[in-house]
Amino acid sequence: MYNAIVIGGRCAGAAVGTHLARRGLRVLVVDRSRFPSDVLSTHFIWPHGASYLNRLGVLEKVRAVTPAHTEVTVVNDGIALRGSVPEELLRNQFRLLHDDDSGITAEYFSVRRHVLDKLLVDNAIEAGVEFREGYTVKELLQDEDGTVIGIKGRDGTVERAQVVIGADGRNSFVARALGLEKFDERPRCTFAYWSYFSGIPDADAQIHRRGRLGMAMASTNHGQTMVLTWGPSEWAADFRADVEGNFHRALGLISGEAADTVARARREERFYGTLDQAAFLRRLHGPGWVLVGDAESFKDQCTALGITHALRDAELAAEAVGRWLGGETDRDTAMAGYAAKRRSQTAAAYYDYVCTLAEMKPLRHDELQLFAILRGNQAEIDRFIATHVDVAPVSEFFDPSNVFLLNDTAKESSRDHGAFTDFEATYREHQRNPFSRVAAEATR
Ligand SMILES: Cc1cc2nc3c(=O)[nH]c(=O)nc-3n(C[C@H](O)[C@H](O)[C@H](O)COP(=O)(O)OP(=O)(O)OC[C@H]3O[C@@H](n4cnc5c(N)ncnc54)[C@H](O)[C@@H]3O)c2cc1C
Repeated sequence: MYNAIVIGGRCAGAAVGTHLARRGLRVLVVDRSRFPSDVLSTHFIWPHGASYLNRLGVLEKVRAVTPAHTEVTVVNDGIALRGSVPEELLRNQFRLLHDDDSGITAEYFSVRRHVLDKLLVDNAIEAGVEFREGYTVKELLQDEDGTVIGIKGRDGTVERAQVVIGADGRNSFVARALGLEKFDERPRCTFAYWSYFSGIPDADAQIHRRGRLGMAMASTNHGQTMVLTWGPSEWAADFRADVEGNFHRALGLISGEAADTVARARREERFYGTLDQAAFLRRLHGPGWVLVGDAESFKDQCTALGITHALRDAELAAEAVGRWLGGETDRDTAMAGYAAKRRSQTAAAYYDYVCTLAEMKPLRHDELQLFAILRGNQAEIDRFIATHVDVAPVSEFFDPSNVFLLNDTAKESSRDHGAFTDFEATYREHQRNPFSRVAAEATR
């Protein structure tokens, strides 16, 4: 009999297992994958994600093999802002969520999943977790009241625990077995295609938006750079008709400079891609079970936060389950605490922010004016970046008084920027699908 069984052993599962084992609990983590292995995911980890890795004790090992940076460049329709996530805002967030701001770092990383997930698994084992890889759960055991009391593996083994934690990703087996419905679903999302290139010098990450397209470049492991492009799902089928051609076409449309850099580099792997990043939420917990990570909440990766949020939720869930199983409080009180933090107004506002961004509408005139006025105001640039990556509340930065004040001044300061020349015509042009056969043939 275990205190906790965790299904899924990657960002959410290995992390929640580690935290629980460190509380002296007997924990089994199982995963049908074998490690090291990849999952379909890019792997940008913002400073709060890196801080969670630090708290778990794996950051030094990540840093030993992965470039670290603090400054990032965000370019919207050619308006470039360079900044970093302020340490003070990071500290505020950790104090608010965990009453503890130890292990904070302002660095970010882009660490391949076969590197990161293996480090997390080894770390969990070191913390005392019993880990079974290549183990597929095919049944949840429930008592006569429906309380989950254990698992049955495909190999027929049965294991029992006080709680079963579903850290088994967005197609969660646990959710399906319990018949948990998705809610607040947002079908509009982005498609994303990426690959790995050598010959691009290690540099700060760049994130570009132009019209309805986005691209990012980030140094990763093995001396390579990950280059990613994305756009609205309505254009996905056309993009997929010629992935390589459209990948380079997209880069050219977004940033000529970035396109030239990639054209001179050497592609080291095939293209990876996904057409489906539709967002949803699920219930967080019930009798004998808890969900963490993508199993509980999935959203488009246009802000690259799934791993960071999985690590955050792992720590929050472990705090709640640990207090309950450790006898500090009863189950309902403990789990209500987890739910309150995960379903706060701030969390809901951020979910909405990402889902709206994922529609990839061309940037409005007032949005561009906001970016124009931010130039030269380092404190506000940093606060914008912190807001964009869910370190500061969306409601504060985008508070009407702040935004309208900025925009009044922006009207003057934005006059000289090319983004505002022929704005209406450019906006209309941005709405045309550049990957449709007609558009592609016209540019050939
Ligand atoms: C295209 C794309 C790009 C992304 N880019 C980023 C990014 O740049 N930065 C970022 O932070 N996030 C990114 N994400 C999101 C990130 O990949 C996820 O949020 C993260 O992997 C969630 O971790 P998890 O542990 O919850 O689930 P997963 O990583 O999906 O792990 C779930 C595990 O559960 C196991 N499992 C499932 N069912 C069973 C079963 N029945 N028995 C045993 N084991 C089981 C699986 O084998 C798997 O190993 C991206 C996602 C996508 C799709």
